Amino acid sequence: MTSALQDPPVRLARDEIRALHPYSFAAWEPQLRRLHANEAPWRAAGDASEAGLNRYPEPQPAQLLERLAAVYGVAPSQVLATRGSDEAIDILSRLYLRAGEDAILQCVPSFGMYQVAARIQGAAVIDVPLDRGAGWRLDPERLIAAWTPRVKLVYLCSPNNPTANLLSQAAIAAICDALDGKAIIVIDEAYIEFCAQPSLAAWLGRYGTLAILRTMSKAYALAGARLGALLAAPSLIALARRIIPPYCLAQPTIEIARQALDNAALAAMQTRIAALLVEREWLRTRLERSPRVARVYPSDTNFLLIDCVDADDFQRRTTAAGLIVRDLRASPLLPASLRITVGTRAEHDALLAQLEAP
Ligand SMILES: *Cc1c(COP(=O)(O)O)cnc(C)c1O
Repeated sequence: MTSALQDPPVRLARDEIRALHPYSFAAWEPQLRRLHANEAPWRAAGDASEAGLNRYPEPQPAQLLERLAAVYGVAPSQVLATRGSDEAIDILSRLYLRAGEDAILQCVPSFGMYQVAARIQGAAVIDVPLDRGAGWRLDPERLIAAWTPRVKLVYLCSPNNPTANLLSQAAIAAICDALDGKAIIVIDEAYIEFCAQPSLAAWLGRYGTLAILRTMSKAYALAGARLGALLAAPSLIALARRIIPPYCLAQPTIEIARQALDNAALAAMQTRIAALLVEREWLRTRLERSPRVARVYPSDTNFLLIDCVDADDFQRRTTAAGLIVRDLRASPLLPASLRITVGTRAEHDALLAQLEAP
């Protein structure tokens, strides 16, 4: 126990989690016939899955973990497969945040789930604003100065939703240098496939309390399948495996994710991403020309953040075009901003036609 406690991802965790005896699920012994889990011996109507939906799925399926690890450039012991990265955020919150005592640090504006998960857990939220005038730059000194011993999770979303920019690697490195071992530094890479920068998963060997979030919801076109991954030190992943529900990944998700990660599918994904980026720049040029748009921010993602001249009027026009875009005006830093996901040319044409209408 003393040696485990010297390991920062274990030392920072809640005492209850370290003491927990996890649920012991039905043993995974694929070579034996299953009469130990009270499953039906027949398939339901419409069950076209490989393994049969009458059976419980393999918890943290070995083949899928191996493939995710290979694609993300880590070892299988550094991967937890989750129901979207939302579940990884929830698990990190439950592992590390004590109600009424601990806090998270996040940049704003950013993804809303970090603070929702923290608040559900009863933790405080400390905001560090990104510098809008400097292209939504992250100021590492400011973030490091905001850290206190209560802060157990530091969220950095890069590329960031909704500001669409990559955070500087040098800034992230400065934060890791200062806070490694003092907090779990979570880099959310939901949009990393859309930019030229490689994943920071390569830094896992360098920083013991770094954690990376990946998802198949965006570039892999599998938002409905719900598959994400938490990448971190094996000791952190081992703690997370204690609290994730044993059968969290549905069998159809496991099967489709394995297909989406084979080499041919990955090559096809790259082609589609390249086409989407061309379409994004086409849309950017047209929006920049519109007198109804005050500003289009640079994007390293599959969406565009814009400032409108009149956001209510813009929203009425998107609705008239049969489209819905994300209203960000609840954030004080984004008083006139909307977020537009890059869609199809037909959808963009419909939007632009409405913007050109009198
Ligand atoms: C979309 C998104 C996710 C992905 O969430 P899933 O639960 O994997 O669908 C994670 N982080 C950010 C910043 C996102 O925008």
